[in-house]
Amino acid sequence: MTADALLGRLDKVRARGRGQWSARCPAHEDRGPSLSIRELDDGRVLLHCFGGCNVHAIVAAVGLDIADLFPPRDTTPGAGAQRERRPFSAQQLLDLAAFESSIVVLVTADLVAGRDADRGRLIEAAARLQRIAEVARGV
Ligand SMILES: [Zn+2]
Repeated sequence: MTADALLGRLDKVRARGRGQWSARCPAHEDRGPSLSIRELDDGRVLLHCFGGCNVHAIVAAVGLDIADLFPPRDTTPGAGAQRERRPFSAQQLLDLAAFESSIVVLVTADLVAGRDADRGRLIEAAARLQRIAEVARGV
């Protein structure tokens, strides 16, 4: 799907730039727009709740499934195998790294300010950045 199908089910959706939105998180009692939504060029949708909800809870709260965050698979013969070998382009890896880095900055800012910070997400961001580096190296 595209992000539109998800955005249509969320409240207080605001555009934050090309392929980026914020909205009220459907998975917790959200006063501010804690949910960040990002659509990548290949149709995948990235979600992050700054209240700490996990992605499964967020999509379930609007009646969707995690698989709905991914574009439908290309069923032309050979296309699947090709995609399995190189699932990400360099640009996509950079986009993912930029997204994870922005999470590191935001969580760190919360920590420094003495606010409730999502330490688990910080550790996850570090792990994802590590994984992105591995994928870039072809590991
Ligand atoms: Zn939430």
